[in-house]
Amino acid sequence: MPNSQPPTPYDVAIMGGGPAGCSAASWLHQLGLNVALIEREPQLCASLQSLQFGQDWVLGAPGQNLATLGQQYARHIESLSAVQVLLGHSVAHLDWAAGEGWRLQLQDGRSLNARALLLASGLKPLRPEVFFPTSTTNSPRLMDALGLTACRDHLAPGRMLLLGGGDNAVENALFLQARGHQVTLWSRSDWRAQQSLVERLRAQAEVITVRPRSAMPTRLSADTAGVSVQSQQFGDERFDHVAVLLGFEAEPSAWLLVGDALQRAGVTAPSHPFRDEPRFAPLGLFVAGDASGRQHPSVQTALGDGVVAAKAVETFLRPLSEGQPTLAMRRNNRQIIHITGLRFGANLGVLDFEREGPQPIQVDAEVNLGAQAIVSRDADIGHVLDYRRVRAIIIDECTAEHTDLLEALLGKLCTRLMKLPGVAGVRIKVTKLEIFPDCQVAISAECGAW
Ligand SMILES: Cc1cc2nc3c(=O)[nH]c(=O)nc-3n(C[C@H](O)[C@H](O)[C@H](O)COP(=O)(O)OP(=O)(O)OC[C@H]3O[C@@H](n4cnc5c(N)ncnc54)[C@H](O)[C@@H]3O)c2cc1C
Repeated sequence: MPNSQPPTPYDVAIMGGGPAGCSAASWLHQLGLNVALIEREPQLCASLQSLQFGQDWVLGAPGQNLATLGQQYARHIESLSAVQVLLGHSVAHLDWAAGEGWRLQLQDGRSLNARALLLASGLKPLRPEVFFPTSTTNSPRLMDALGLTACRDHLAPGRMLLLGGGDNAVENALFLQARGHQVTLWSRSDWRAQQSLVERLRAQAEVITVRPRSAMPTRLSADTAGVSVQSQQFGDERFDHVAVLLGFEAEPSAWLLVGDALQRAGVTAPSHPFRDEPRFAPLGLFVAGDASGRQHPSVQTALGDGVVAAKAVETFLRPLSEGQPTLAMRRNNRQIIHITGLRFGANLGVLDFEREGPQPIQVDAEVNLGAQAIVSRDADIGHVLDYRRVRAIIIDECTAEHTDLLEALLGKLCTRLMKLPGVAGVRIKVTKLEIFPDCQVAISAECGAW
């Protein structure tokens, strides 16, 4: 139902109240900023509640139970006055406008404004369509990573097939074998799990059946008594339970809202949320924790990443000092040197007449210098990349010696230009102007960051 109340203003809205969102909220509170922390589940750190097992990754607290840690994080956040925790809430609509920031409309009709938006929405298990067709109903015998974690303590021992070769698959293989299951571990590649887990797996070689480097099954079909598994290598088999542990992907809900909001505002939305983040910081858009893909997904890295994100948000929101512009006004997103239509003779090509002497070519180049200060120190060439140098390198590289293939020349140009200080990416196009009477031929290449 539409709400006539004016939007509540916040410095920062965080979507996702897992370890990363909580850690960021706590830091933003310390930094004196006010925060709305929106979590769609009815409790904070909901994802940790199913992790009812001790594990040794928490420094200083080996064997610590993650569910307990999650409850401690939640209590801490709920005690902070500058953090408004909105549990069981989803964002129904999101808008962004330059100079205004983000407007979030919640499903209950409430709306709030935030100058910065931090996505801490985590990951979700990969559920390939071939194994989990949308047309079939879920079966408790065919599980993803979350399903297995929720029930593994009380599954009656039986024939268990695990698909995957990472930490999650190997750790579960060891755990379930120790609980009396007859485990088969099937991976399309070599083991990708931590060395300590792989060594423990090797020590169990007689009791755990392993199938590394094996093409995945072509079909899984679950019924009330078990799961039929078909594959070219092993034929038709039957297991009591199958768990598909093939990794995770970014939880899409928050990203979809952001993509729509930016598109409506005429801004290109993040195509890959993780690596594009610096480009979106000037819009007040940040990402933390597993959703950032920056680090190995774990509770400790998510906590650390929440701090990094909080500091980035503060830098965006706060002027360096009174009267100074904020980050959004201090730096542009990207500065590019363009060299267009540079024509000269080059010794290039494998055809007989091309070996006789230079032929005319045209080089067009773009050199990405990344984000730069909008107001640079004027009249100080020492602080910028001199475009005369870019031009000279292109001519030198194309004329120094004969090169057979255009592709090889592009590679040499990219390598040389990428070595220049401050260069983040290179786009280059070389055109043979007179190779045919009726057309020109060009090949282009792109390397580095764009
Ligand atoms: C089966 C399993 C076992 C694991 N075992 C370990 C382990 O032993 N040790 C370890 O350190 N780590 C472990 N992890 C990883 C650990 O749980 C994660 O790395 C950590 O929780 C990441 O924190 P996060 O805050 O980035 O994301 P999450 O904890 O996933 O939190 C994201 C939150 O965002 C919420 N959310 C998503 N979209 C929206 C939206 N649109 N609006 C509002 N809220 C939203 C979600 O409900 C969720 O609460 C395990 C993970 C799994 C799945």
